[in-house]
Amino acid sequence: MTEQQNQAKNIIQVALASPFRRLFDYIPTNNAKLNPGTRLSIPFGNQKTIVGIAIKTTQQSDTPLQKLRPINHILDKKPALNAELMELCQWCADYYHYPLGEVCHLALPALLRKPEPIPVETHILWDISDTGINTAIDDVKRAPKQQQALLAFQNKKQIKAETLKQYDISASTLKALTIKGLITRQEVPKYYSIASTPDNFLKEKPLTLNPEQQHALESIQFNNFNTYLLDGITGSGKTEVYLQAIERAVNNGQQVLVLVPEIGLTPQTTARFENRFKLPIAALHSGLSDKRRLDIWQSSQHGQLTIVIGTRSSIFTPLPNLGLIVVDEEHDLSYKQQEGVRYSARDVAIVRAQKLGIPLLLGSATPSLESLHNALSGRYQHLLLRQRAQNQPLPTVECISTSDTNLSEQVINEIRQTILQEKQVLIFINRRGYAPVLMCQDCNWISQCPHCDSRMTLHRVNQQHQQLHCHHCDYRARVPKQCPHCHSSRLQPLGTGTQRSEEQLEQIFPNTPVLRIDRDSISRKGELEAALEQINSGAPCILVGTQMLAKGHHFANLGLGVILGLDQAFFSSDFRGAERMGQLLTQVTGRIGRENNKGRVLIQTHFTDHPLLQLLLSEGYQSFAQTVLHERKTTGMPPYEHIAVIRCHAQQPELAHQFLLRARQQAESIIAPHNGLQYLGPFPATMEKRNNRYHFILQIKSTNRRERQSLLQTLCEQLENSKQARGLHWLVDIDPQEF
Ligand code: ADP
Ligand code: ZN
Ligand code: ZN
Repeated sequence: MTEQQNQAKNIIQVALASPFRRLFDYIPTNNAKLNPGTRLSIPFGNQKTIVGIAIKTTQQSDTPLQKLRPINHILDKKPALNAELMELCQWCADYYHYPLGEVCHLALPALLRKPEPIPVETHILWDISDTGINTAIDDVKRAPKQQQALLAFQNKKQIKAETLKQYDISASTLKALTIKGLITRQEVPKYYSIASTPDNFLKEKPLTLNPEQQHALESIQFNNFNTYLLDGITGSGKTEVYLQAIERAVNNGQQVLVLVPEIGLTPQTTARFENRFKLPIAALHSGLSDKRRLDIWQSSQHGQLTIVIGTRSSIFTPLPNLGLIVVDEEHDLSYKQQEGVRYSARDVAIVRAQKLGIPLLLGSATPSLESLHNALSGRYQHLLLRQRAQNQPLPTVECISTSDTNLSEQVINEIRQTILQEKQVLIFINRRGYAPVLMCQDCNWISQCPHCDSRMTLHRVNQQHQQLHCHHCDYRARVPKQCPHCHSSRLQPLGTGTQRSEEQLEQIFPNTPVLRIDRDSISRKGELEAALEQINSGAPCILVGTQMLAKGHHFANLGLGVILGLDQAFFSSDFRGAERMGQLLTQVTGRIGRENNKGRVLIQTHFTDHPLLQLLLSEGYQSFAQTVLHERKTTGMPPYEHIAVIRCHAQQPELAHQFLLRARQQAESIIAPHNGLQYLGPFPATMEKRNNRYHFILQIKSTNRRERQSLLQTLCEQLENSKQARGLHWLVDIDPQEF
């Protein structure tokens, strides 16, 4: 084949959601010029139509021209992903080593991943005509209704169909005016105008900032890229700083994006923004319908929303006037996606802010060690809030040594005291369900998941029914009446989860409401709202919950906090185990004793003498974090070295292991290991068998990010094209959160 044959006027290169890290060539219809980011309907393999994203035009293709297929049609007039978002998607594809098409899909609302045009919602506008403008009002004085309507049109020029009622204009009046040629009817897209910001958009007066808050706010430079770490203890008034920073951005005519960790947080957070600002604000979270998400996406794209608050994937919201990004609770794990494109929304936020030249505000009472390191080394501006905004005292913390996860006598007594003082109690257990395992007292049989290297948790489904449930593969099984191994009927739940603790507390305190907050309880509609309402009423009650409780909630009347079941954290094989423990303890402690309440926190643990726990309790999170950072430095772990892992799983362990072994050899031949670049493994993942598949990982540790990136790029290309990869699942996890 000659080069001539491969030349065409225009070939369009298209990104689509496929596992291949490449673009696909198509022939555009009528040689139409396509802007990057435009959605196309294209045939692919034996699928008649899927969504492709136009990336660029080229004159040449590696595929023979006659084999290129034409696109079906162009889906939208304007690119669904504007230039800014396309650039961000490209960055994600490069940095995280995922196909660009998959990243584009991630950035689009679900409805736009289907090959359908963006639904254009319209509304009816009545417009005054030139004749209408020039008609003297007295000319219609014989029809008073028409006269009144004409007056309204001469004032307003345009009236939306929905608001006709306000002017008392009836359908027959409209008809009469239309026949006289005084007004015209128009159908226009709903999203077509840029809402202007009202001059006075504050609903309530901002609080007077204390000197630390004031300093933090004044440090933020707008219209300039910089990352600020707002490192402030719980209750120090970080949110007030966000609110006033947002006010400044809005005063500059800009939009603001606020990321929050979880939906559990959103109702309270949104309320605080809505109470402050008379502005269009939208909350994007997983509870929304696809239709509603698309609505929000469209209005923010058209500049009609001023503030968008949302969870992880909101980082891809189109905001043409974006002027500030806030990432609240920046240390939170939920910012890292653990499936599909394994991106970190916090890190993508940094890149987005940098490309736009705008400030990024990261906030936390317990900053991640990565962010803290960047702040200490001067890459981020470190803004410290060391005092509680209302000078509330921090709680006293005491450790109670016990190996039992049941509530000790002392704890029960203190709960009683607290309730007698008309205050609320928070019990924190990081385990949902009734008990983490069911065990036979005669032969030590335990409820192992048949599909995973994990135990099945006992759950109480309702008063009568219990069930075994694997939290890793979702397998559910009946609770056996007898031990499957020795037929003994002496089966016993071992350990305590939130449900069991709830049950025990209800028995001990029959007259006090016990509220459970965990993933199971909040998945039931209205339950979280009801619980929050009860809590906010301030009446004495006992809250039992998982880390969901530790996240940003502001409860005014908590007098006592009890932390149970912390012990696993000490033995976590994960290098982030200590960091997590410190964050969790500090966050839970921070919920206690706000608003004139000196609170108390009890930690029930077997390891009261653990040096890191002692350090945390005596010196606080800052010193604790610096010690852990120092350990990371000596062991060559993040943030001092950069990690990437290649994960692979297969039905037969040898297959996954072999694949990664070869991957390592290939990697070594691309860049041989040296002082600053190490290959570790392959070894089994922390949980080797999960859902009947065997998981292995290969770790790549590097002091030089750029070297790691170029290595992975070449390696991914080779792996993708290798025969061994067929039928195997493998992926790259950059800056992994866990192994
Ligand atoms: P954080 O987000 O750091 O946990 P919040 O912003 O929720 O803290 O503030 C804690 C409490 O202190 C809230 O009730 C808030 O209204 C109040 N607060 C914050 N800043 C001030 C201030 N400058 N003056 C008085 N009260 C404040
Ligand atoms: Zn048995
Ligand atoms: Zn399982």
